[in-house]
Amino acid sequence: MDKKFIFVTGGVLSGLGKGIAAAAIGALLESKGLKVTIQKLDPYLNIDPGTLSPFEHGEVYVTDDGCETDLDLGHYERFTHVRTCIDNNYTTGRIYNNVITKERRGDYLGNTVQVVPHITDEIKEAVKSAAKQEYDAIIVEIGGTVGDIESLPFLEAIRRFRYDVGRENVLYIHLTLVPFIKVAGELKSKPTQHSVKELREIGIQPDILLCRSEMPLSQEVKRKIAMHCNLDEYSVIAAVDVDTVYEVPIWFRSEGLDKQIEKKLNLQLPEANLVVWEDVVRRIKMPKEVANIAIVGKYIGLKDAYKSLIEALIHGGIANDAKINILWVDSEEIEKKGPENMLFEVDGILIPGGFGNRGIEGKIMSARYAREKKIPYFGICLGMQIAVIEFSRNVCALSANSEEFDPDAKDKVIYLMEQWYNHRTGNIEKRTKVSQIGGTMRLGAYPCILKEGSKAHEAYGVTELSERHRHRYEFNNHYRDILISKGMSITGLSPDGELVEIIEIKDHPWFLGCQFHPEFKSKPINPHPLFKAFISASIRERRSLFK
Ligand code: GLN
Repeated sequence: MDKKFIFVTGGVLSGLGKGIAAAAIGALLESKGLKVTIQKLDPYLNIDPGTLSPFEHGEVYVTDDGCETDLDLGHYERFTHVRTCIDNNYTTGRIYNNVITKERRGDYLGNTVQVVPHITDEIKEAVKSAAKQEYDAIIVEIGGTVGDIESLPFLEAIRRFRYDVGRENVLYIHLTLVPFIKVAGELKSKPTQHSVKELREIGIQPDILLCRSEMPLSQEVKRKIAMHCNLDEYSVIAAVDVDTVYEVPIWFRSEGLDKQIEKKLNLQLPEANLVVWEDVVRRIKMPKEVANIAIVGKYIGLKDAYKSLIEALIHGGIANDAKINILWVDSEEIEKKGPENMLFEVDGILIPGGFGNRGIEGKIMSARYAREKKIPYFGICLGMQIAVIEFSRNVCALSANSEEFDPDAKDKVIYLMEQWYNHRTGNIEKRTKVSQIGGTMRLGAYPCILKEGSKAHEAYGVTELSERHRHRYEFNNHYRDILISKGMSITGLSPDGELVEIIEIKDHPWFLGCQFHPEFKSKPINPHPLFKAFISASIRERRSLFK
């Protein structure tokens, strides 16, 4: 079978959930036995999103091979079996960088280097790079909205793509909006018509329309859209608002999307089997328990900054048949009001990853409160470092801080380790203190060995694991003995024993900090063991009024 390419574009406005749509199409096709991968093409000039503020652009999603990528790759991994890597996310910046590097090297043999064909050819190569493995279908999500200047070269490249690989191997799916206008009591198809018109102007006739709307589309509305957009009515799929995103594959199937894809790509596939997704949705919609979890962070305005974390908590809930109520707590508020006034009713406290010293003291106060009041505590990356600082100060009487927050602190229990061994690459990595980007971070998957009998071991059920990292600072081994002598356990280490990966506190129902980001690997159909254990402990220790 030839490889099939499915391009997903977006129209009318941004934020319609193109990433979820692409991921859900992936889930649907996997359920019919296809081996799929999903790629995101982003029309901005940053080479990768690593330098973008998560509070503007959403979280930076980290892959096993250490790439800092767009958060949509998180959706792809959560919905499918795809293991994303460097090939799954390209930006305009990276495409131009490749072309300019080739130009300097003299690869273009004196030709004038132009957007068409050189940039567009580079984009096509990028799509093919994601397809080089044994996949049956490659879903490519084009970032931005049709009509933006920025996304034009991507659209031109995917238009040509059909001629390169054959008509029957390429499908264009366009996501639009069909708003309901209350005063008229009507669903309006005009924005969709305009968006499709714009796409056709650049030579792309969409094969399928996914129409976001508040309510199901009647056959009559579908027919009208189909007529204006040069399609048949079965190619107009309603993408209605659902209670949980994990319901989207099920909804798409009920709208016949899989059948349309099959027909248009000339495929004969078995019926979609979505039993696992039905189970996930049932558990989310009919919980038997509740867990109230505080996330203590800084500027908690844009929830997308913590996308994988929120999802991983929901997955922890799925594993425990529990609904998760997230209480967003600004750590600067804790500094002002005290943790006892802000966290008194929560069942679990989570401190997520973060950078910079704003709100740090509030986080340290929260970790102390969790430790002393025996509330389940889960510290992720910065959250582990906070727990170490807190314990060093309040239990070991050290003048402790992280080198990140106070380079002159007497006891830098968290510090910049100058070099470390990278088990993935076999290289000694060196940390340069000057640069704030790139090489100085420990990025991507690293192995970790667990101590038998620990809470971590109990959760994972194995002694060896691999998790993803994104940080500069590390646990300072100079302080290991004193912390252990006062009741902290080091329960996860790198195979050479040099890098502290997990800490726990004894005589506490569940207090765990990990230097890695477990949230990146959690899936609804396979909730992450640490989130599962944290939620389970939070339910068991519940202190809230609803006990
Ligand atoms: N700022 C800390 C470090 O760089 C923690 C990073 C994080 O939480 N991702 O080590």
